[in-house]
Amino acid sequence: MKTFSKSTKLDNVLYDVRGPVVAEADRMIADGDHVLKLNIGNPAPFGFNAPEEVIHDMARNLRESQGYSDSKGIWSARKAVMQYAQIRKIPNVSIDDIYTGNGVSELINLCMSALLDDGDEILIPAPDYPLWTACATLAGGKPVHYLCDEQADWNPDLADIEKKITERTKAIVIINPNNPTGAVYDRDVLERIVEIARVHQLIIFADEIYDRLLMDGYKHTSIASLAPDLFCVTFSGLSKSHMIAGFRVGWMIISGNKKIGEDYIEGIKMLSSMRLCSNVPAQSVVQTALWGNQSVETYVCPDGRVTKQRDYCIERLNAMPGVSVVKPKAAFYCFPKLDVEKFNIKNDMQFAYDLLKQEHVLVVQGTGFNWPEQDHFRIVYLPMLTTLQEALDKLEHFLTYYHQ
Ligand code: PLP
Repeated sequence: MKTFSKSTKLDNVLYDVRGPVVAEADRMIADGDHVLKLNIGNPAPFGFNAPEEVIHDMARNLRESQGYSDSKGIWSARKAVMQYAQIRKIPNVSIDDIYTGNGVSELINLCMSALLDDGDEILIPAPDYPLWTACATLAGGKPVHYLCDEQADWNPDLADIEKKITERTKAIVIINPNNPTGAVYDRDVLERIVEIARVHQLIIFADEIYDRLLMDGYKHTSIASLAPDLFCVTFSGLSKSHMIAGFRVGWMIISGNKKIGEDYIEGIKMLSSMRLCSNVPAQSVVQTALWGNQSVETYVCPDGRVTKQRDYCIERLNAMPGVSVVKPKAAFYCFPKLDVEKFNIKNDMQFAYDLLKQEHVLVVQGTGFNWPEQDHFRIVYLPMLTTLQEALDKLEHFLTYYHQ
């Protein structure tokens, strides 16, 4: 019999995220069950709205947004991102170094496809945003996971990075602020990563989609600003900062020493033009969004909704016997640790599945983020406080009797 699937190598990397737990939740919802979903970083369904100005400008620009644009994106969007790069001190960026995409996701895929030959290695954090691992694998590369250290506020473990570099390592991925931990990396850690990349001639890919969602007065440093002599690609977009994940708009900025990557840039240009262009109506609001009033600030200020929801979750989780969690500094995720001995947990997907079936609360297990142990899970604290309260009550109750 003919088979039509190209390869099964993605099974390992995607299975955990979209796998049986989510499928079961979908089934339960279709059967009319009420499931409390703490599993997805999509702000709009939880009552977060895009700034009015963004909606207004998108509507106003629709008529002029009907055709394909330049494959890298419209001039006003790229100019706005270029100015953004200047403010963030990302060096040596011209308008030609900016590419818009249908979300950061498309650009991650494009960059991995252009870079990796079979067997080429790329360093990716554990835990990670798993699309990075999936795209590197799909491109034929070998994702090599370096550990982030929970004891050090989830900063990357530099010794582990160094240990995992080989002749085949081409690049390192930094996700800062981080999904799923909510970490914001210390500046000196970033400087030391740059030093490692310098010594081993690695490309730096910096996924900074949460760079405008910091709490508690923390400041974000773009790693590219510390690496003028290296080849860096920095990713960001409007999905999270402007609550318009469905509009699909993101960008990447190539910076630093572009001479090193001349051939690579040709590959990126080719793949970029093969997809013709990214969503033009969404590009048309980049300038408005980046340079207008940043309404997201009202969510992440000390009194803001996201901050309050984070504080509530962290307090509740840390009060549960057998659970501990590092307080996130940014984004809207936390990555609690479970006492596996207390709960006899051998399989974290089973844990998520049992929590779903017994308490109707949906979370994602840590291995879904390529975390190597069975002892973590991720909570998205975007839902309303009342929903979080109900979900955490149920989790607390579940942990009083759960023994795997
Ligand atoms: N990068 C990280 C770290 C994310 O958490 C996400 C979405 O959750 C993305 C990229 C994808 O963003 P986009 O909507 O721009 O494709």
